[in-house]
Amino acid sequence: HARKKGPNSYSFFSAKMTSIASDRIKLEAALHRALKEQEFRLFFQPKVHGQTGQIMGAEALLRWEDPKRGIISPGAFMNIIEEGNLIHPVGSWVLRQGCQACRRMHEAGFPNFIMAVNISPRQFLERDIVDIVRSSLEKAQLAPKYLELEITEALLIQNTEDVEQTLRQLRELGVRIALDDFGTGYSSLSYLTEFPIDTLKIDQSFIRTMCGDTKKETITRTIQHMALELGLTVVAEGVETQEQFATLREQGPVLIQGYLFSPPQPENSFLEWTRDYMSQQDKK
Ligand code: C2E
Ligand code: MG
Ligand code: MG
Ligand code: MG
Repeated sequence: HARKKGPNSYSFFSAKMTSIASDRIKLEAALHRALKEQEFRLFFQPKVHGQTGQIMGAEALLRWEDPKRGIISPGAFMNIIEEGNLIHPVGSWVLRQGCQACRRMHEAGFPNFIMAVNISPRQFLERDIVDIVRSSLEKAQLAPKYLELEITEALLIQNTEDVEQTLRQLRELGVRIALDDFGTGYSSLSYLTEFPIDTLKIDQSFIRTMCGDTKKETITRTIQHMALELGLTVVAEGVETQEQFATLREQGPVLIQGYLFSPPQPENSFLEWTRDYMSQQDKK
C-alpha cells in the first residue's frame, strides 16, 4: 500500500477505485450470465431509400433484456463486452441471429432485404472471423450479398495488412462492407481506395445539426456526391426530422436511417411496421 499523503486522501481514492473495479467485475459477470441465460436480443432499425421510399434493409442492434431492469442499450455495456472475452461469443451470436432474421424477412415477402450487423475491431481481428461469417450464412441459408458488416475507422487504422486481407476474403465471400460513423475519428479518404468498401454511413453528428448549418450541409452533400462517383451506397444515420430528410434527399441518392422512420424494434414489431409501411407505400 502507498503512504498516505494527506488525511484520508489515499484511502478515499483507493475505495473509489475499488468500487469502480468491482462494479465492472459485477457487470461483466452479469453479462456472462446474460449470454448463458439467453438475455441478449436483436432490435432492428429500417433503412429507407430516400428517393424511392423502399425499405432496403435494417441494422441489427444489440439489446440486453435484464430480468430486473428490462431492456438495456449497448451504451451501458458494449465496452465491457468489447474489452473482455465476451466479444467473441456475443459477436458470433449477433452474426448468427442477424442472418437468421434476414432469412425470415425474405420468407415474409421481402426477398431483397439486406441485414447489417456491427462488428467490433477485436471481433474482426479474430483469426476465424471469415469462417464465422460463412457458417452463419450457411446455417441461415442466406446468400452473402444480403449481409452487410458495419466496421469502423478504428479498425482500419490498426494492423492494416491483416485487416485488408480479411476484408478481401469477406468481399470474395460476397458480403457487403459498410464504414460506420464515417466522418468522425481518423477519417482518411485513402481508406476508400485501399479497402473494399460498399457503403458509407454518415455519422449522426453531421446529420443532427446539419439543417441551417451550411458547412455541415456541404459536408453531407459532398460525401453523397463522392459516394455516387465512387459507386458507393450512402446511409444517413440519426435522421430525426422531415427537414433533414428533405435536405438529404435533394442532395443526392441516400438511404435514411433514424427515428423519423422508426427506432430500433424487436423483430415482431419491426416486421409489422415494415408491412404497414410498405402497404402505405403501395397506395402512393
Ligand atoms: P451504431 O452502429 O452507429 O448504431 C446507431 C445507433 O444510433 C444506435 O444506437 C441507434 O439506436 C441510434 N439511432 C438510430 N437512429 C437514431 C436517431 O434518429 N436519433 C438518435 N439519437 N439515435 C439514433 P444503439 O442501438 O444504442 O447502439 C449504439 C452503438 O453500439 C452502435 O452504434 C454500435 O457501435 C454498438 N452496437 C450496437 N449493437 C452492436 C452489436 O451487435 N455488435 C457490436 N459490435 N456493436 C454494437
Ligand atoms: Mg452501426
Ligand atoms: Mg453509426
Ligand atoms: Mg456508433
